[in-house]
Amino acid sequence: MRKRMIFETGSPEETFALGRKLGTEAVPGEIICLNGDLGTGKTVFTQGFAAGLAINEPVCSPTFTIVQVYEEGRLPLYHFDVYRIGDPEEMEEIGYEDYFFGEGVCLIEWSELIEELIPEDADSVLIEKDLSRGADYRRITVSLEEENENISN
Ligand code: ADP
Ligand code: MG
Repeated sequence: MRKRMIFETGSPEETFALGRKLGTEAVPGEIICLNGDLGTGKTVFTQGFAAGLAINEPVCSPTFTIVQVYEEGRLPLYHFDVYRIGDPEEMEEIGYEDYFFGEGVCLIEWSELIEELIPEDADSVLIEKDLSRGADYRRITVSLEEENENISN
C-alpha cells in the first residue's frame, strides 16, 4: 500500500523542516527518490533530512561524485545526485547496490534519470513550484510505501 501526502511550503526553512521530520522517521534500507526541477529544493530537503538523522556535517549536492556518504548519524545516509550521469552503467561502477540494499538510507536526487535501477517499493518526494503562488512556494508530494514506515508511529 502506498500513502500519498501533499505538503505546501513557503520558505526554504519549511522545506528543511519537512525533510527533518522525514529524517527522524527514516528506517534502515529505505530509498527515497527525490525529483523536481533544478532549484526547487531537493538539496534543501536533503539537508533537513540529514539533520533529522542527527548528522551535523554540512551537506551539499554531490554532483561531481554521484554519491556522498554520511556515517555519523542515527543511520548512514547515502546522498546521490545523478543529474550528470550519462549512462546507468556509471552506477554499476560506483557499486550502487551496496548502498541501495544496505542498512542505511538512500536519498537520490534526479532518480528519474536512473529509473530502471530503482526498486519498485522505493519512496518518493516530488517538489514543484507554482509561480502563481509566489517564488518561494513549493508543493511537495510524498509517497511512502507503508512497509517502510517506522513501526513506532
Ligand atoms: P535543487 O537541489 O532542487 O536543485 P536547491 O535545494 O539546491 O535545489 O535550491 C533551492 C533554492 O530555492 C534555494 O536557493 C532556496 O533558498 C530556494 N527556495 C525558495 N523557496 C524555497 C522553498 N519553499 N523550499 C525550498 N527551497 C526554496
Ligand atoms: Mg540539488
